[in-house]
Amino acid sequence: MMLVATRCLVALAALGILGLTTPCLAAECPAPAAVAATVVAPALVAQGQAFLVTLRTPLVLRDTQVDFLGHRFQTWAETQGGESVVHALVAAGADDPAGSYRLIFSGTDPAGNRAAFSQDVQVYDGAFGEQRLRLPKAMVRPDAATLERIAAEKARLAERLATAAQERLWDGRFVRPVPGALLSRFGLLRVLNNEPCGRHYGVDLRAAQGQPVRAAAGGRVAVAEPFYFEGNLVVLDHGLGLATIYCHLSQTDVKEGESVAAGQVIGLAGATGRATGPHLHFGARLGDVRLDPFSLYTLTAGARHEHTQEPKDLRGGNGAVGAGGAHP
Ligand SMILES: [Zn+2]
Repeated sequence: MMLVATRCLVALAALGILGLTTPCLAAECPAPAAVAATVVAPALVAQGQAFLVTLRTPLVLRDTQVDFLGHRFQTWAETQGGESVVHALVAAGADDPAGSYRLIFSGTDPAGNRAAFSQDVQVYDGAFGEQRLRLPKAMVRPDAATLERIAAEKARLAERLATAAQERLWDGRFVRPVPGALLSRFGLLRVLNNEPCGRHYGVDLRAAQGQPVRAAAGGRVAVAEPFYFEGNLVVLDHGLGLATIYCHLSQTDVKEGESVAAGQVIGLAGATGRATGPHLHFGARLGDVRLDPFSLYTLTAGARHEHTQEPKDLRGGNGAVGAGGAHP
């Protein structure tokens, strides 16, 4: 669809799914220049799902970014047939309210002006449900010293993720870390020993004690150490804000700062930390959004992605808690 880019603020809401706004801070604006630009994004996404968006334009833009639901996402670019093609991995948070939101692609053109291109995306309810578990008291109500330890771990993780790679370290399809069935799905509201304990920000996959756990994608090891709830924890930085998280390992086989390839064994499954039995808790973050890692399996980096699909074939279960253990 043809759009008009201008140095003035132009609203093209009447264009339907493809809108365009170009902010202009100057009081006087030159005449608009006709520019073709296309934003490819899904019209519908569920809470907690990641998706790819693409901007195609003859403009060569720098400092591009995507803003959606109050979160900022990093981009990567390529040139195809003289056109600039900018991609971004974007996600709706599990706690972002359902509704219609404007996704805004922006960048600086060669003349130094900010150009912005937008599309509305409907976020629908993830229908996450609830899960009740019984756990040892110390794992639900830690003492003061343990709370201090947990806070320090959280700060350390945030610090490591704050220095994550600014370039994309993953490529192609994501790898499932263990083949086991889904024991507990993403987003469940957890009730532990009859107390509400927040959301399950990951998936629990069936894995036997000592079973190899593989990197979901290429990246660098951001964390490889024991944490209180997570047990032996590995966090992989895949660049551009994307990280994957592997908890309760009986053994870690990688060191911080090390580069890993997609599918490489990073450790062995176990039941360390807050776990009722051996399994893999597998999580993913994109910037400040904790997303359903299964949604990564519908993506191929750089590919056109016009709608989201339920990755039914990957779930291997019905979302109920099985005998393999679970953790909040
Ligand atoms: Zn879990």
